Amino acid sequence: MPSGSEALRIGGLTRWTSIDFPGRLATVVFLQGCPWRCGYCHNPELLDATREGWLSWAEVRNFLAGRRGLLDGVVFSGGEPTLQAGLGEALDEVRAMGFATALHTGGMYPDRLAQLLPRLDWVGLDIKGPWDRIDAITQSRGSAERVQASLGHLFDSGVTFECRTTWHEGLFGVPELHGLASDLAGLGVERWALQECRGGGNTAVTVADLAALGERFGSFVYRAA
Ligand code: SF4
Repeated sequence: MPSGSEALRIGGLTRWTSIDFPGRLATVVFLQGCPWRCGYCHNPELLDATREGWLSWAEVRNFLAGRRGLLDGVVFSGGEPTLQAGLGEALDEVRAMGFATALHTGGMYPDRLAQLLPRLDWVGLDIKGPWDRIDAITQSRGSAERVQASLGHLFDSGVTFECRTTWHEGLFGVPELHGLASDLAGLGVERWALQECRGGGNTAVTVADLAALGERFGSFVYRAA
């Protein structure tokens, strides 16, 4: 039986991206499996943790070895990448090859995230909504507490991170969006990305809303679907 990074179940690969790891040209490795069930999930084929990967870690490593000097970062995304125990070893290998490392996470495993943070250069943490909405959005009780704990670990670590919220007006209203921005800024979050939900209606948010949301943060981006 493979173990460590060799056991990673990899559900997809984006060979080149300039938008998933700020300031880096990066490859994105999508890991299989996620216990949450957000209704707008962008990668439903990645949810089943038991599904076989479609390429091996050895193949990804070989691909990366051929991209040294062309790419400078590797992002692990999902699904929920912290689900898989081999992620830490994979991060070590990627760094040893000279790449910077990044993680996209929903923050559902705060203890695992804390262990991984010393191996990471950048993290994108999903904040699914106002704290009292998160459990309903993920369809998993206790989600909000886990995300809060993960956010705390990020602050403690000193690793650069971005909070990101995928939103459409059917999830919660614009006033709650302003409340969320206020909460995050009050906690000390410096970078927030508001992401338009694919197929969702975002007509309720105006240019003036976006200006008011963004002025609370050192860095704010609105990502259209
Ligand atoms: S946390 Fe991400 S991968 Fe998991 S169900 Fe939600 S949107 Fe999909």
